[in-house]
Amino acid sequence: LAKQGGRGRVACFDSGLMKEERYRRQIERELRGAILMNELEIHYQPIHGLTDGRISSLEALVRWRHPVRGLISPADFIPIAERSSLIEKLGDWVFARVCADAAHWPGLKVSINVSPVQLKARGFLDMVKKCLLATGCSPQNIAIEITEGVIMDEMAGQAEHLRELRALGIGIWLDDFGSGYSGLSYLRDFPIDVIKIDKGLVQDMASNHANRVFVSAIAQLGHGLDRQVVAEGIETEADLTLARAAGCSHAQGYHFARPMAAKDIAAYAGFGASIRAA
Ligand code: C2E
Ligand code: MG
Ligand code: MG
Ligand code: MG
Repeated sequence: LAKQGGRGRVACFDSGLMKEERYRRQIERELRGAILMNELEIHYQPIHGLTDGRISSLEALVRWRHPVRGLISPADFIPIAERSSLIEKLGDWVFARVCADAAHWPGLKVSINVSPVQLKARGFLDMVKKCLLATGCSPQNIAIEITEGVIMDEMAGQAEHLRELRALGIGIWLDDFGSGYSGLSYLRDFPIDVIKIDKGLVQDMASNHANRVFVSAIAQLGHGLDRQVVAEGIETEADLTLARAAGCSHAQGYHFARPMAAKDIAAYAGFGASIRAA
């Protein structure tokens, strides 16, 4: 009986894994087509300064308008793309699209999430230069958002990549700080302009004293090093008040605006850009 149960479990485990693998391959195949069929789009979410309340930059966030499944979140396909070479194609498409859009918004910086795999790819720098040249977008209008994973890779021997991007005039932002190892030495040793504090840490501030202490300490550290500090995931007036009290210089979240289509940015940045400053 035990043996039978064991066999049953194994069989069940196998078919679960196979299903997952089949699903992954299916998405991967469809995503390959999606890039060719123009099913991807970029939405832009404003980031606001907390002293003047004005819009200061935008984060570019990719979406997949699937003909059958509807609008798919990047959380559901980026990890799949990252496990194959697809992430490079996808990332290149995102870069080209964003540079084309950003060329119409002088003075507004747009940050692009870049996967570690893409940043490591040999052709990355050339791709970036080509996009800037083709669209007339200034490198000053572009920043890349990287996570700690990238920094660890860089420490393993490719620290030059980030410096070369920096030399072009592209901003280097550290995303999701406070969600992983969050090594303090990264902040000292890498050319990082902006620290984005992970929404998990920010959103827990109201109920968690330790998180308030952490966010304040990160803000103080960042400003001491002359970095801007963005609080992510600001959903309510209360979140905003706490982020400001903690000393964050900028904030992003549904309280200000959800990510929106490129065509809506001009109106937002022109007319709805201010919130009440402190
Ligand atoms: P992220 O870079 O940390 O982006 C912030 C995420 O938080 C976005 O989710 C955004 O829509 C969401 N968000 C913004 N404000 C709020 C808020 O007030 N409350 C809550 N609960 N969420 C908020 P999204 O668009 O689903 O993206 C998820 C992740 O996918 C991103 O996290 C980023 O890691 C990745 N991603 C998105 N676009 C790209 C891309 O073009 N390339 C790569 N490699 N990754 C991307
Ligand atoms: Mg990001
Ligand atoms: Mg983030
Ligand atoms: Mg994230």
